[in-house]
Amino acid sequence: MPRVKKVPERMCVGCQQMRAKRELIRVVRAPDGTVTVDPTGKRSGRGAYVCPQEDCLVKAVKARRLERALRTPIAQEVMEELRRRVQS
Ligand SMILES: [Zn+2]
Repeated sequence: MPRVKKVPERMCVGCQQMRAKRELIRVVRAPDGTVTVDPTGKRSGRGAYVCPQEDCLVKAVKARRLERALRTPIAQEVMEELRRRVQS
């Protein structure tokens, strides 16, 4: 029997739509509390996801959903990296 491959989905913290995980930008809080942007999606820790779109990032920031999802404040440099990634 052919195995049906399920695409893993995650919710964007901006638009709150489910999307394929690989289409989203992952932000991860490592066990030591460091928050980083994780392009590989493989770092361990608590993750939050956002579409690579400025709209979504703006919504997520306004509603503080990234902070809430990760339960920690997001450093300015992490926000800047996210902005660079949604603009490119
Ligand atoms: Zn989104």
